[in-house]
Amino acid sequence: MEAEAYWATPITYLSGVGPKRAEVLATELGVRTFADLRALLPFRYITREHLGRIADIRDDGLPITVTGTLSQLIEVPGRRKRVTAGLLDASGALELVWFEGASWIKKSYKAGDAVIAYGKPSFYGGRPQLVHPELERLTDSTPGAEPNPWATLPILPVYASTDALRRVGLDARGLRKLVWALLAKTPPESEPDPLPAALIATEALPPLSDALRDVHFPPDAARLEAAQRRVKFDELFYFQLILARRRAHRRTGRSALPFERVGELFHRFYETGLPFALTEAQKRVVREIRADLARPEPMNRLVQGDVGSGKTMVALLTLLIALDSQCQVAVLAPTEILVDQHLRSFTRYLNPLGVRTVRLTGSTRAAARREVLALLASGAAQVVVGTHALLEPPVQFARLGLTVIDEQHKFGVMQRAALWAKASAHAEGRYPHNLALTATPIPRTLALTAYGEVDVSVIDELPPGRRPIRTVLRTEGHRLRVLGFVSEQLAAGRQAYVVYPLIEDSLKSDLLAAESGFEFLQRYFAGTARVGLMHGRLSSDEKEKVMRAFVAGQVQVLVATTVIEVGVDVPNATVMLIENPERFGLSQLHQLRGRVGRGGEQSFCILMGPDSLSREGRTRLNAMVETSDGFRIAEVDLSLRGPGDFLGTRQSGLPEFRMADLVADAPLVARTRELAQALVATDPDLSQPEHRTLAAALERYSLQHRLELWVA
Ligand code: ADP
Ligand code: MG
Repeated sequence: MEAEAYWATPITYLSGVGPKRAEVLATELGVRTFADLRALLPFRYITREHLGRIADIRDDGLPITVTGTLSQLIEVPGRRKRVTAGLLDASGALELVWFEGASWIKKSYKAGDAVIAYGKPSFYGGRPQLVHPELERLTDSTPGAEPNPWATLPILPVYASTDALRRVGLDARGLRKLVWALLAKTPPESEPDPLPAALIATEALPPLSDALRDVHFPPDAARLEAAQRRVKFDELFYFQLILARRRAHRRTGRSALPFERVGELFHRFYETGLPFALTEAQKRVVREIRADLARPEPMNRLVQGDVGSGKTMVALLTLLIALDSQCQVAVLAPTEILVDQHLRSFTRYLNPLGVRTVRLTGSTRAAARREVLALLASGAAQVVVGTHALLEPPVQFARLGLTVIDEQHKFGVMQRAALWAKASAHAEGRYPHNLALTATPIPRTLALTAYGEVDVSVIDELPPGRRPIRTVLRTEGHRLRVLGFVSEQLAAGRQAYVVYPLIEDSLKSDLLAAESGFEFLQRYFAGTARVGLMHGRLSSDEKEKVMRAFVAGQVQVLVATTVIEVGVDVPNATVMLIENPERFGLSQLHQLRGRVGRGGEQSFCILMGPDSLSREGRTRLNAMVETSDGFRIAEVDLSLRGPGDFLGTRQSGLPEFRMADLVADAPLVARTRELAQALVATDPDLSQPEHRTLAAALERYSLQHRLELWVA
């Protein structure tokens, strides 16, 4: 049988899989065919190399794997009914305990069974115990029992099961049995490997069919590692191929208005209007942007720069280049507050140059909206700053040449695509250049993966004179001292933020917490400082009023939920006090901290943590205390949360990587990207004969992961 047809065989053709199991396999794991079952990856392995002696078990919180013989299984009655058994090896004894499923254990195992046990030991009266261990039978003392096929294998796969699967007998062990049965019946005839032979040779990859066997039942650790490398390689390589093709397509299939000459506005401003000398990093990034803009293809560049690195000025200079070519510019920001702030800084610089700037957000009233729409459609307004209201259909431009997206990670891929599509209908059918800004540094590997179609510039230098922010972790017991410290800062003329978490699921109680915190602080600072409250439920007029009062220094303490998170700039603020910091994501905390330390004074970030923290929470908060390097923080965050959550949107455009880890496998990410780009450069459509199987495999991959080969 053709290999392809064989692997497409419905799973019911495997002995041991009836209609009921087939249904559960499909709904729980998406396993419908032989190929799907083979692609089910173990999440862990039991390795005999790591077998320990029972006498060596230590109370260090690490899991252990031991092998031994079961003693009598005893049912202990009582309030918490349980089953216990001893596990004996040559060095000592270990107690095994089950509370739930106890009767099932008694039916499945008996004294004399040789087993491997895995679990985290607890100590009870100085003696080690495994509660609900994972057990693996090595021999079966039942007369006439079939020999256990994997009793002698050095490495055993462990598959993730679910309750529904367990109900039909498919626990980790049952799943292993199925995979074993499949691989045992699969004829060893070789399948064609979709990757080009040359690539397999240079990268020293094992053949795919070997890798897919070894990843389940490897004969030794080296073969397992090679198999895992191959699986990861394929995961990353196919995705990079898609990105490389999209990028090539965007480059050749689209044209933009080239801004060949940097004109009068730019020069006038650059020579006489700059309020400060640009940092070297800002200059470099502006040069990179200018080179992009001179080309007839649309720029698609992401500028990453830590909070306070001066991205706004880079955006302004880019904007002037577009204006010099008589183009309009749309600036998109995620919140009304940011829109207003950009509007303030842009109009300050643009009004003297005679540039008309308008504002459009969800709260723009009908009459004003009609006027703004007319100004944009006629070209009378050259710059519009707005929220996603800009993406709505009635917004038309006369000659849109540049879009600037601030804090672009807040916008999904779909929204960005909408802006592109909108723009393509104008500017003589050309696409606008696109500049995206983000203060959430994205680890390089993720940038190369998630934003593979995008060029990335980094502002890796802060303007001179900034002092690093001092970050401390405090708990409730320190509250009075912390408040005393805030009072001192206020007395010295500084301002402070106090931020409360606001999580959708607990919106009501979170708002209450922020409001009662606000009332408390009002009483606490009565007569010495004015306290303002800012949260998402306020109308935009009210928000604007509070924000203006804080910017003007009329309010000294701003109590807020996360609406102040991105981009807000008040250089006189030196204290960022964060309540329940464990409830914020790491990148969010870093963003919040970036609200202070923007002036010349020493600034402080105080994390008011709970008395006890989860392990993950501790890792997060410690990272905040230990480093102010946004890229380092982003890496910790990415490894804690995984790429989908990290990007903060379901529309991250990333496939699910089942084995590859974008942090740990960084070198492989970079390598596959290089190889994919080289391949696409020589054979963009994969139409050469040696790429035929690859093209077919890529097609299947994109269907399976619902990834478009081309983006519209
Ligand atoms: P972000 O990158 O977080 O958007 P901003 O553009 O808001 O940062 O800049 C932060 C602050 O630093 C602003 O007050 C801005 O005027 C100032 N700034 C930007 N670039 C420089 C520079 N080269 N020298 C001095 N101050 C600068
Ligand atoms: Mg900014």
